Amino acid sequence: MHPRFHTAFSALPATLQSALQPYLDASDFPAMFTAEQAAAIRSGCGLDDDALAFALLPLAAACSLTPISHFHVGAIARGQSGNLYFGANMEFSGAPLQQSVHAEQSAVTHAWLRGEKALASITVNYTPCGHCRQFMNELNSGGALQIRLPGRAPATLADYLPDAFGPKDLDVASLLMDEVNHGHQLPLNDALTQAALAAANRSHAPYSNAHSGVALETADGSLYAGRYAENAAFNPSLPPLQAALILLNLSGGDCRAIRRAVLAEPQDASISQWDATRVTLAALGCQNVSRAAF
Ligand SMILES: [Zn+2]
Repeated sequence: MHPRFHTAFSALPATLQSALQPYLDASDFPAMFTAEQAAAIRSGCGLDDDALAFALLPLAAACSLTPISHFHVGAIARGQSGNLYFGANMEFSGAPLQQSVHAEQSAVTHAWLRGEKALASITVNYTPCGHCRQFMNELNSGGALQIRLPGRAPATLADYLPDAFGPKDLDVASLLMDEVNHGHQLPLNDALTQAALAAANRSHAPYSNAHSGVALETADGSLYAGRYAENAAFNPSLPPLQAALILLNLSGGDCRAIRRAVLAEPQDASISQWDATRVTLAALGCQNVSRAAF
């Protein structure tokens, strides 16, 4: 079991510990459970869908990286497939606070990067901030997304974000988590560059059309790619580097052990991720960053 889970795991009820341990003990535990695994866990410990998601929150929060706030937020996103995905907040010492990742963004992006097509619900241990409500308003599940909070009645995103401004106000039909392929190409065979390009091709950038992706290679040779998730309100957009860092962190990797990074983005677009990507990676100790422009 990854050491970050030890304290939270030890506080769980014994029946839940028994049901979870085989999965958590796997060296490649991906901080998610398939629908079948979730069903097996539920039958093993007697919890229903919502109760299991609440019970998993301390494990999700244990994945947070919070050198600035020391405030641990965990989230569990449930996909329409029934899969459960962990999410946790992330902060980066030395980088602007705007580069931070909120737990809801982490769980949503985690589900998206693992191939989930839409979300049914998200369970969080603290009430979603305004930034996250707006971020989630970009999803193809829209206002119907179920929000679950400790001690609160079940509600929807529309309940938490009334009179919302979103994609439809800008006549945008393609929503976050919709399947897309923008079809950009690069004449390069380098695996990391191709991973960044593939991520850019599946990114959500309907406002700027500056499709972008980042791929990271860590010291142990693992590769993680993240896609840009743009937002109708612009500022809550999640950069492609952050998406890749979410996947790296939740997969059990070390964000301070990145040895190479590639950003794939358009040569000439109205916006660029280049400067922000380099600054944040430098704060994580990685200077080996290249830009592949298409
Ligand atoms: Zn938030």
